Order: sequence, then C-alpha cells, then structure tokens
Amino acid sequence: MNELSKNYINGQWVRWSGELIDVHEAGTGDVIARVPASGREEMEQAIAAADAAFESWSESTLEQRLTVLEQLHAGLKERAPEIAETVSREVGMPIKLATPIQAGMPAAVTKTYLKLLPDFQFTEQSGNSEVQYAPVGVVGCITPWNYPLHQVILKIVPAIAAGCTVVLKPSEIAPQTAYILAEILDGTDLPKGVFNMVCGLGQTVGDTLIKHPDVRMVSFTGSTRTGHLIAHAAADDFKRIALEMGGKSASVILPDADLAGAVKGTVNNCLLNSGQTCTALTRMLVPADKHDEACELAAAAVAKMTPGNPLEETTRLGPLSSAQQRDRVIDYIKLGIEEGATLVAGGPEAPEGCDKGYFVKATVFGNVRPDSRIAQEEIFGPVLSIIPYNDEAEAIRIANGTQYGLSGAVWSADDAHAKRVAGKLRTGQVTVNGGAFNALAPFGGFGHSGLGREFGKWGLEEFLEVRSLQL
Ligand code: NAD
Repeated sequence: MNELSKNYINGQWVRWSGELIDVHEAGTGDVIARVPASGREEMEQAIAAADAAFESWSESTLEQRLTVLEQLHAGLKERAPEIAETVSREVGMPIKLATPIQAGMPAAVTKTYLKLLPDFQFTEQSGNSEVQYAPVGVVGCITPWNYPLHQVILKIVPAIAAGCTVVLKPSEIAPQTAYILAEILDGTDLPKGVFNMVCGLGQTVGDTLIKHPDVRMVSFTGSTRTGHLIAHAAADDFKRIALEMGGKSASVILPDADLAGAVKGTVNNCLLNSGQTCTALTRMLVPADKHDEACELAAAAVAKMTPGNPLEETTRLGPLSSAQQRDRVIDYIKLGIEEGATLVAGGPEAPEGCDKGYFVKATVFGNVRPDSRIAQEEIFGPVLSIIPYNDEAEAIRIANGTQYGLSGAVWSADDAHAKRVAGKLRTGQVTVNGGAFNALAPFGGFGHSGLGREFGKWGLEEFLEVRSLQL
C-alpha cells in the first residue's frame, strides 16, 4: 500500500492528516494507494506559493530553465520502469504499451521542449514595435487519469519553460505518477514555489483552483462536462483557458483503400488503452458495399484481443481504470443493442476468466446509425461502431456530424485524394494512411473537443501573453 498523505507546496512535502482517497488497481480492484482529499486551504496555500514565486521565475534565464528541464528529463528516464508499472496498475494499459507510451512519452515530450526552447523567439520586431512574449502568470493544471503523467508533462513543461509558475491538481483516480514527478522536480534546481501539487477532488480543490483570482490561466484535460464548468468559471474574471476534452473520432475508409490494412489500423487505434484514449477512432466509416466484409475483418482483429493481466508482457488488452468506467461502458454496449445496431463481436457480459478487476470485452457494432447515441457520445471503452456510407460527401458529413472534433483518419490508395478528404474534416488532427504520431505537431480540438493546442511551439505559446513596445 502506497500511503501518500502529503501535498507538495512551496518546495516542501506538507503532511495531510485528513480524509484519504483510495486508488484501485485496474486488473484486481485492490486498493493500492491512498492520497489526500485535500481541502480548499491547501490549494490556497499552493496558489499563494506559486504567486510568490512568479516574479522571480518569470525573469529566469534560458539556462536556468534548460537546466531544470534537463534534470527533469534525466529523472523521467531513470524512473521509467516504475512509471510504466504504476500506470499499468492504475489505468490498465498493458505493460508492453505502457513502457513506451505512459513512461516514454513524458520523457520524449520533455526532450522536444529542451530542443525547441533555445530557438524560440521570445521577442520579435514588427515595424517600429518590439513584440514580447511574456509568461501568463500562475497556471492551474488539471489533468485526467487515462495518460496520467503524459497529460501533466504536456502542461507543466511548456508552462515552466515559458516562465510561468504552476499548481497541479492531478487525477484522483491515477495520482501516483504525479508524486513521482514532484519527487523528481524536488531534486532539481527548480526554485521553491514554481511547481506545486495538491491532490484531491474536483469539486473542492479543483473548484478552488479554477476560481481563484491569482490563477491567471487554467490548462485542463478531461471531460467536456468539466471543461464547461471551467469555461464558465474562467469567464468571471477573464482567465485564459486551454481545454483538451473528449472526442468521437472517425476513421474514413475510402472505396479504393486497402480494406484489411485500414480496418486493422482502425481497430488497433480504437482499442489502445482499452479505448480510454481521447483520440480513439471509435467510428469506422466504410462504403456500404464493403460493410459486411469490414465487419468480418474487425471481428477477426478483436478476436485476437483477449483481455488479460496488464502486467504480463503478452497482454494486449487490459481492463478499464475503475468500476465506474467499466459499468458506464457496459451500459453503452447494452444501449447499442437496444438502438438496433448489429453486435458483431464482444458484448456486455464480463470476459471469461476475468472475475476480478474492471474488464470489458472488446466490442464491435455494425450497421450503426450515425445519429444513434453510441455513434454520437464518447464511450471511453473498447467499443467500435461501424457506419456504412453511400458516397464521399456523405462520409464527410457523417465524420463531421458530432459535437466533437479531436482526431480522425482517412485511408485511400491515392495519398493526394486522402489528403483532400482529410482537409475537409472539422478536427484538430487527421492521420492519413496510418501516418506516424508526431510529438512536434499541434494537438487539440475543434468544437466541443477543446480550445487551444498542446505539443511543440504551439504548446509553449499557450502560456505566453503578447506585449508590444512601440519604439
Ligand atoms: P474529468 O473531467 O472527470 O476529470 C478530469 C480532471 O478534472 C480530474 O482531475 C478531476 O478531479 C477534475 N475535476 C472534476 N470536476 C471538477 C470541477 N468541478 N472543478 C475542477 N476540476 C474538476 O475527466 P476524466 O474522467 O478524468 O477523464 C476522461 C475524459 O478526459 C474523457 O472525456 C477524455 O476524452 C478526456 N481526455 C481528453 C484528452 C485530450 O487531450 N483532448 C486527453 C485525455 C483525456
């Protein structure tokens, strides 16, 4: 049992003797850690520390910032096996994937900022004006459980690199890697108060963070529901916000595409982290005359995905992160059946041999109506909806026909054609014929998927205000 009854405030671990929150192991349901259900007072102390540290850190040199990022990068590399195992236990991602993704990505993203920061222009000339990019101030960072350390790194690294000070409220469902991060930062040259972390519930400490007048920006990743609350709270004193929220991304398979390759690519993407991925391709759009063949191919692909213990090297599909998430996903699978979609694979029953932990069968629905709830709402589980279309215009309409716009994919034998269709998708990212992930490309949503962008120079610019001096 990992007893973590403390918060990190003003460069110190501050003991917490109040109520604790249980953290569960996804594969067994056992309680593996306890973290504080901190009060508003602890959050206020953390905000005051960040506020006090801002004046000096906002004027820190490039060398100071680079030194801290280098030390952080080294710490993330050193503790990578522990980070991978921790997230695998909390979230359920198989260790074989958690190692490169949950532990590898935070180090890789930190490295991208180490590389781009020296060349970033914090001032530029425009006519007789000098344009300066100044840190926005104290930033409140609120993060979800599905990629718990990665989401944190995407915020705090560019925020600190920009000269901001931060208060992090990590997910209470998967909080342990935020403690590892605080331990690493504690061992760096980062001045006290620049990074603070308070663990607790959204309704209390999260609420204090988003409403506090000394917090000038809230950077949030999580559900669209919580994003709404943050946008409303921010409006009251014109805080800057960056929101990374839900998705219902479409994989558009054009008639000339290699169907087997496109279906395999879509299924693998949809089931990554048991579907607990905001960018998951959960709607697969196929030409109507290829619908049945696509269903067969998808069923064959998920048949190989038997759920198992995420800590075993051979497991490819793990459990969901919590009992609540499992029950929610099972309810959606039942809803899909009620809505009249064809159950092609999986179903609402628990997978065989998985009587402990939060397992759900990888499920595929065919003949899904584009306006049905399973095709419109984010399920956040291993559930794929196959939607037939009659022509390209209809495929684009269906792809753009949800409130979301986070990601997407287009498949075609003709790259130029695929790119033209990709350019019509109202979404922040599109993968063309399985293009590789790029940690320097801007990432974020259209519509209800978000405001602002993360990764690369776009992620840094989120934390900068613009000032112009007329000379
Ligand atoms: P969530 O909105 O329930 O929680 C996210 C964070 O917000 C947690 O730290 C939570 O404690 C906090 N929170 C909750 N209520 C709050 C309140 N009233 N005030 C302030 N903070 C509050 O989301 P979740 O269930 O943890 O994560 C899953 C969601 O995250 C999915 O919808 C997924 O699509 C989304 N997500 C989006 C991205 C992206 O980059 N677009 C990435 C990962 C996850």
